[in-house]
Amino acid sequence: MAKVLLIILDGVPWANWRRLFGNLEGWVASGEARVWKMRSVLPSTSGTCYASIHTGVPPQVHGIWGNATRRRLEFPDLFSEATRAGLTTGAVTHSFWSEFFNRYPFDIVRDIEYDEPGGTITHGRFHTMTGDSGYNQMTPADVDLFATLTRLCVVKGIDYGILHTCTLDSMGHRFFHDCEEMDDACYRMDEALANFLPQWRAAGYEVIVTADHGQDARGHHGGATEEQRDFALYYFGAGQGPAPDVVLDQLGLAPTILGRLGVAVPETMTVAGFLG
Ligand SMILES: [Zn+2]
Repeated sequence: MAKVLLIILDGVPWANWRRLFGNLEGWVASGEARVWKMRSVLPSTSGTCYASIHTGVPPQVHGIWGNATRRRLEFPDLFSEATRAGLTTGAVTHSFWSEFFNRYPFDIVRDIEYDEPGGTITHGRFHTMTGDSGYNQMTPADVDLFATLTRLCVVKGIDYGILHTCTLDSMGHRFFHDCEEMDDACYRMDEALANFLPQWRAAGYEVIVTADHGQDARGHHGGATEEQRDFALYYFGAGQGPAPDVVLDQLGLAPTILGRLGVAVPETMTVAGFLG
């Protein structure tokens, strides 16, 4: 049974991963990691994708049609199934994840940070990006988020942890993709992540680095083009995966992670996992 960390870099399209993340690509080249293309659900909207990533249920079933449609979801998800199996979970994410999988609506003082043994998210550390706009992203420093997740690993001994950051999604909405701003943002993210990833591996975690959806040349997503839907999934671990040219189904992510954790997959997750 493995411990697993899921790193979601919001809104990074396939081309940017393969072009700009030199450390991740270096680990693929050296054999430490494997990479596949994954395709998001439809609509390729953030909140919709978060719900499907963690429940393995399609939007046409969970009904999260966009970012304004939020509630505490009633389906089994990675947190609920892991904690039911006696594992400890952690989240360092945008507040939507707390709303979907623990409590809705998000009460900023009550829910910004919680430690709730017996709850679905055992250790939660959240941020809201309140007031974000095209002028001010309101995104936390990614190194702070990576450090917070590492802290949960070291101090709380989490078995499953998710980290989610909107920095690159916000950069894409502001500056699009064929520009120095995006080159620099991905370059810095890749280095920040690379400073932590070996620590997580040394601590015994398998690590998945991926996105929730892509973005097109105008920084848009939500629709059905491959630019808006497709992103890379990097996997550091001992599991066996499919051939390199297989396009992974986003609905397979939740059952895959439960499989690696050694936790039973609920009937609501109908797509097979992709790691054996
Ligand atoms: Zn997103």
